[in-house]
Formats: sequence, C-alpha cells, structure tokens
Amino acid sequence: MLYRKQSGTKECIYMMLATQIDAAHRLFYKKGGNMASLYKIPISNLSGIGPKRAELFAKLGINSIGDLLNFYPRTYEDWNSVEKIENLEYGSTACIRATLATSINDARISGGRIISKAMVFDETGSLQIVFFNNRFISSMLKSGTEYLFYGKVTADTYGAQMIAPTFSAAQDSTNIKPIYRQTAGLPSKNIEKAVKQALSMLPKTINDPLPQQVRGAFDLCDLGTALRNIHFPKSGDELEQARKRLIIEELVVLNLGMRYLQDYSREFSGVKISDDYSDEFETLLPFTLTNAQKRAILDCITDMKQKRTQMNRLVQGDVGSGKTAVAASVCYTVVKNGFQAAFMAPTEILARQHYETFCKLLKNTDVRVGLLTGALKESEKKKVRKRLADGEIDLIIGTHALITDKTEFNNLGLAVTDEQHRFGVAQRSRLLGKGKNPHLLVMSATPIPRTLGLIIFGDLDISIINELPPSRKPVKTVWFNSNQRDRAYNFIRSEVADGRQAYIVCPLVEEGELDDVVAAEEYAAELMLREFADIPVGLVHGQMKSDEKDEVMQRFVSGEYSILVATTVIEVGVDVPNASVIMIENAERFGLSQLHQLRGRVGRGQFQSYCILISDKKGQTTKERLEVMCSTNDGFKIADEDLRMRGPGDFFGERQHGLPQMAIADFADAKSLELSQKISDYIMFAYKDIRNEELRALKAEINRLFDRGGHNSLN
Ligand code: ADP
Ligand code: MG
Repeated sequence: MLYRKQSGTKECIYMMLATQIDAAHRLFYKKGGNMASLYKIPISNLSGIGPKRAELFAKLGINSIGDLLNFYPRTYEDWNSVEKIENLEYGSTACIRATLATSINDARISGGRIISKAMVFDETGSLQIVFFNNRFISSMLKSGTEYLFYGKVTADTYGAQMIAPTFSAAQDSTNIKPIYRQTAGLPSKNIEKAVKQALSMLPKTINDPLPQQVRGAFDLCDLGTALRNIHFPKSGDELEQARKRLIIEELVVLNLGMRYLQDYSREFSGVKISDDYSDEFETLLPFTLTNAQKRAILDCITDMKQKRTQMNRLVQGDVGSGKTAVAASVCYTVVKNGFQAAFMAPTEILARQHYETFCKLLKNTDVRVGLLTGALKESEKKKVRKRLADGEIDLIIGTHALITDKTEFNNLGLAVTDEQHRFGVAQRSRLLGKGKNPHLLVMSATPIPRTLGLIIFGDLDISIINELPPSRKPVKTVWFNSNQRDRAYNFIRSEVADGRQAYIVCPLVEEGELDDVVAAEEYAAELMLREFADIPVGLVHGQMKSDEKDEVMQRFVSGEYSILVATTVIEVGVDVPNASVIMIENAERFGLSQLHQLRGRVGRGQFQSYCILISDKKGQTTKERLEVMCSTNDGFKIADEDLRMRGPGDFFGERQHGLPQMAIADFADAKSLELSQKISDYIMFAYKDIRNEELRALKAEINRLFDRGGHNSLN
C-alpha cells in the first residue's frame, strides 16, 4: 500500500539507488574488486530480491552484497558420503541413497494436520520416512524411484525412521550443502540462492586483504577461493582451507586494529612523577606486602618515572591476591607528586568498600579522599564534583559517575579501573579523557588465556600477581547434592557459632520460570523462618536500590548479619575477611570462572574457608566442571578449562571484553589466535605501516570491523 501511494517517489529512489550502485560497481571492477565496495551494493541489487525480501535479509543483518558473502553457513549437510541403511546409527545425521517402496501414504490426524509416510530401501535394508503437514510431498516423491535422503536417524517401535528428511534426485551430483541461519519467510534455501548469485558477481581477482606474500608464507588460500568454498565446498578439505583462511583474516584484522588503538593511545604524558612514595605508603598498611605486590608496584612506578609516554599497565591477579593495596600505593605516589588520582569500580558496593578501605589507610595522611557514585544525592554529587574540579580532592573513588560529562578534574594524573573486564575499551578511554594523557592502571581478576590477552590488552603492559598473602589458606571445596543440604546448613551453623560469617548464593531460576528476585526473596524468607530462625540473615539482590544494597552489605561487613543470602551481585570484589563459608545453589548453572569469582569471596582472612557447591545434575560435563572446582584453586587453570568447555561467548558474559563482534573466528580457538598473532607480526615487519598501499584492502577491513563497534577509524 505504502509503495503504491508513493509510486512516484519510489521511482526516484530507485533511480538514485541505481546510479549509486553503478558507481559502486564501476569502482569495484576498476580497482580489481575491493571487498569494501561490495558493502556499498545493496542486496536488492540481486535479481529476485525486492524491498520485501530485502527487509527479511536485513533481519539477519544482511544489507549489502558484502554482508551476504560474509554470512557464513551455520552448518553443512554432507551429501557426499552416502551411507548404507544397515550401517546407520540411531541419533546420527546421514545421507542415504534409497528407493521408494510404496507411494506416499497421507493420513489426517487431529487438528486437520497431515502425516505422510513411506518405506524406502537400499540393497542393505529399509527405513521409514515421515513428513508432517506437507501436502505436496506425495506429488514430489514417486514410488520405485531412487532419491538421496538426508536427515537424522531416529527409531520408533517399528524400526528406523527419518523425520522430514531433505531429499533430491539420486542422479543429482552429491555435494556439501550449506545450511544458513534462517528467519521466518526466508528459509536457508533462498539464502543459498542469493549467495550463489552474489558469488557469480565476484570478479576473477579481488583485492585481497591478505597480500599474496602473506598468503604464500602461511599457506592460506585467496579470498575469492575462500568465499566460494566456505559457501559451496566440494570436499571437507576445501571447507577446512576456506574456514582457516577466513578465521585468520578476521583475527589478523582484529589484531592489527587493536595494535592501532594502542599506538593511538600512547602519547607523551604531561604528568611528571619524580618521586617514589611506595615505601612511605607501606608503613601505613596493617600487613607486609607480598613480593608479587611489591613487583607490581615497582613496575608501575618505573613506568611513570622513566617512560616518556603514559603508563598503560594491567595488573592481573587472582581473587584475593591483594590488587587493591597495589592500586592504593600507586595512587599514593601520584597524589604525593601533586596530581589527582581516580579509581573506578564497576558497582556501588565495591566503590563504597574501596572508599572505606582508602579512608582508613590514609586517615593519618594529608591525602583527601572522596566518593562519587550514582547513588549519592544530586546535591551531594554536585558538591563532590565542585571540590574535584577545584582540586580539593586528591583521590576520588567512584563508579561510572566518574566518566559522565559533568565530572571534571583539576589535574588528573592517574586513572585506575578495578575489575577491568567489566568495562569496555571505550569507557577506559573516556576516563583517560578526563586528564591530559594521565597514566592508566587497570586491574583484573579474570584470568584470560595469554593469546587472547595479547589481543584484548595488547596495548597494555602486564604485571601478574602470582602469589597470595602468606596467611592465606586455600579454600576447601566440596560438591554436595541437595539431599546433603542439611549437612551444609549444619556446617554453616557451626562456623557461625565460631564467630565466622557465611554467604549463601541463591538458586538461579530458569528464564521464564520465575523472577530471580522473587526466587531469592522466597529462598531467604525460608531460611530466616526455619533453618536459621535464630541467626541474623540479610538478603541482597540486583534489583535493590543501591542504598538498600549498601545498607545490607554494610551490616554484613560490620558483622551484624552472620549470613548473607545473595544473588550473583556479590560476585565481584567484595571483601569480608571474616566470612569463611560460601554455599552455592545450582552450581551447575554457573560458569567455572564465575564460580571461582564467587569462591573468592571467602578465604580472604586467616581462617580456613570452605566452598560448598550444591548440584543434583548428573551429566558428564557437570561432573567434569564441578570436579575441576573441587580439585584446584588456580584461577588460570580454571579459566582455561572454562574456555575449553564452554566457549568464549559464555565465558565473558555479555561481551564483557569490549571487543567487536566476530563473524567466524572463535576466541576459544587458541591455535588460530596464535597464528594470527604471528601473521600480524609478520605483516608489521614486512610492510612497516598499516597505511602501506599494499595493505589498502586490509585497512578497509579494519575500519569496517571497528566501525561496527563504534571505535575510531583509521585514516
Ligand atoms: P583482590 O586482588 O581480589 O582485589 P583485595 O585487594 O581485596 O584482593 O585483598 C584481599 C584481602 O587481602 C584484603 O582483606 C586485604 O586487606 C588483604 N591483603 C592484601 N594484601 C595482603 C598482604 N600482603 N598480606 C595480608 N593480607 C593482605
Ligand atoms: Mg579487588
């Protein structure tokens, strides 16, 4: 309707589009085919794709020919290896060459639906094929004719079945069929057709983002071949070659893009740190620093004193390794040299806790400490901001409130971010933007595999705190099923009787089942009324207002509550050394790294601490994972296992690494990560500068990848 009404203007739009497409096309062919210009040709340029269909493609994120070519199959059907019926395994997916023994028998079942069945056979056996609600099937498959059927082999009481197999004439050449992620109204088959057309538009030579020299050195196929074979491979080998090449290209693009960001952020620092105050700071501490902590502090001070550019350092240390003291020491030195320092934490609770720690430590010094979080009253925030801008606060602790436009510093010399994995690259740079190239210190407990770290934190120097404070005893971890819950409760009761405190992490609820909060509240109420009626129990969950959360946390910290029932809001950083037990319900629903973070809430003081995992799940993976938790306290080992078992998507949660979305590469694929690192080194060595003319196509890809994430683009 809309189109008919506006038919006049529609013509105009089409004309305009046609000219643009022409220009893009001309550009494409003249330059010998640049992928980048394919992203300028709209998908509707393919025949058979009108505005309606184009909208469906858009739903899948496909707007241009380039997008379409980059829309790689989700999986493949291997019609290449035809199996004999007698060899089929139940539950497997297979292709058979078989003849219809009978014509299709349609039967109506309840609700007016149709179920169609027939027997098919080859020289080794027979099976039944079944289709639901397909009125046309009986006219498509003929008795006595041979076909290829592809589908999952299942069994009913009468023997083997294939339900709704795909099929084609037996004489059709067998091949590997791409299966695409589809959407309502746009089945995989139609996408396949469009891809075929788009591929036919590719010129013989494409400007390859990976130059010939690089491909030759690392045995990678060219882009055209890779694109043709990722969509329509003729063999498993071809597919592997194509995948390898595309994965490597994507990771190299990411790698070099991150390196570019690094150059970009390294500038001369106007912050002059000439004196080291870390010894003076150590006298303020109630404990002796570990050697690892001292090393990390020294690394920072050396960076700030000796490097011409600003410090860019990541301090990575397992939960409880004492990163806060390291940061505090560095802040102290910066402040004593006459600059301001900012310390940004991901949550209200953490910010407040850090604030209190710093206030206590610096009580007898001249350092003026401030707190700025979203939860403060507007008038309060205003006051803090004014003092900050006037230079009346030396060290400010806060949340994201620190990076809003309203916050100004007098002379910011150091920005610290705690639990770095919670912040994106952009937030990190916004904090830095509050000063004139201030030094940067980021802290993270999320141990990431080395190769991935090189990419994510490639622009950072790294200090690793590989030592826990000496008084620390490793947390003992056990796995109970829910029948043993009473034992767990009794144990908690005895610890509380000894003066310790305990965390109980609520069951996670299945999505759509119940509200997390309702579940947490019910669970806590149950405990308060029955199990621990005589013990003060607090509840904290994610939907509480932050001042409510703070109040509960405060009461737990001060010992008023002996037990804290919590959802995963306590996951990050909270420090209550007197807590000696953490009990985690539905342990199987958490990722290993998350469990490790939770476990890190205990074992922070001199008391032997315990982690009780509750889970009834019997599956092999659950078993393996919970056993890993029981057998080691080593965060790096656990992160590796986690990555191996779950893949990086889950590992990082909502893309917490702040990297752009990948089309084909997988961050868990350590081998490809390593190879991409090597190739990136090679490219930088061979071509010196990313602006080198021969890297034009590569540069275009870098811009495209980082554009998607809203990062700066290369000029
Ligand atoms: P994380 O690295 O997880 O941020 P924290 O900085 O919160 O760890 O430190 C955990 C606990 O260990 C805190 O209670 C802190 O006071 C204590 N701590 C830190 N360093 C030492 C040390 N060298 N000796 C003893 N206790 C320490
Ligand atoms: Mg911490």
